[in-house]
Amino acid sequence: MTNPTPLIDSHGRVHTSLRISITDRCNIRCFYCMPAENVEFRPREEILTYEEIERFASVAARLGINRLRITGGEPLVRKNLAGLIERLSAIGGIDDIALTTNGVLLAEQAAALKNAGLQRLNISLDTLDDDVFFQLSRRRGIDQVIAGIHQAQKLGFDKIRLNAIAIKSITEQAIVPLATFARQYDLELRFIEFMPLDADDQWQRQQVLTGDEIKNILEASFCELLPVTRDDVCQPAIDFRFADGQGRIGFINPLSHPFCHNCNRIRITAEGQLRNCLFSTTEWDARELLRNEATDDELETLIRSCVCSKNAAHGIDSDTFIKPQRAMYQIGG
Ligand code: SAM
Repeated sequence: MTNPTPLIDSHGRVHTSLRISITDRCNIRCFYCMPAENVEFRPREEILTYEEIERFASVAARLGINRLRITGGEPLVRKNLAGLIERLSAIGGIDDIALTTNGVLLAEQAAALKNAGLQRLNISLDTLDDDVFFQLSRRRGIDQVIAGIHQAQKLGFDKIRLNAIAIKSITEQAIVPLATFARQYDLELRFIEFMPLDADDQWQRQQVLTGDEIKNILEASFCELLPVTRDDVCQPAIDFRFADGQGRIGFINPLSHPFCHNCNRIRITAEGQLRNCLFSTTEWDARELLRNEATDDELETLIRSCVCSKNAAHGIDSDTFIKPQRAMYQIGG
């Protein structure tokens, strides 16, 4: 069934992973991602239906995509996500379906998602402190997130990762409590460097709290962190384990240690625009094809054209870098 020609770009990278944003809506308002007020969401009719997403994913699977990640906005605010997971699980060639969520609605949906075939969960958790959570997300909800994490563990999701953003002068205080929590509950914790994808355009290079700085803080508080050999070179994190045997930590360092050379990902936004990078300034219109009776071959041509045009690197630190028009919640993180 799979097309023998892989999705390979002009830099030799084979693409096997598709991130699917299913909504730009969110139930919190993190300052590093969304505006505080008057967010302009895409009208519902522009958002791909589950049937359209399934069709697109089937064509992508034919081209060698075998891993899917559902994201947003907040994917759990869209109705019947379990129904979509069930459809995607049935696509031949898809080996892995993961979800990135803020966890606020997870406790109530986790069982249905697991039954539908969801395999892995990344839960964004920047702090354990209710007031800091409010300061970052402009909403309350930390208790629901923690309840969601515990419920997911209870249901037997085996690989639950916590993702914490790292922003200088803001999130340092959360590092040790988050690591303590992750070690206590045997969860993998990853820190992600702040990227220039905030809606308010306030990002500054000096706000990036690097993975190396966080590693130093953790080693000073716990014990040495020992490097872990990667099973999958395409995954973005550099992983470590605590020398005392209790837990693992990963660092996603797009600024201090870019990993573009191993990137195997493409993304489709909630309204069906295909992107070859978070920092793309070009998009390929899959919705137009999906809504105009395009053939699978036409969709394939679009996907190949998007992959072929991928730049060697995001180029954030280059003089020619242009910040994408869209913020993270509009692309799909
Ligand atoms: N709502 C879901 C969630 O919170 O996980 C999925 C979408 S959210 C955009 C995905 C991830 O992107 C979150 O872990 C969030 O912290 C991260 N993120 C958002 N804006 C970011 C930025 N400017 N730099 C780095 N990471 C960012």
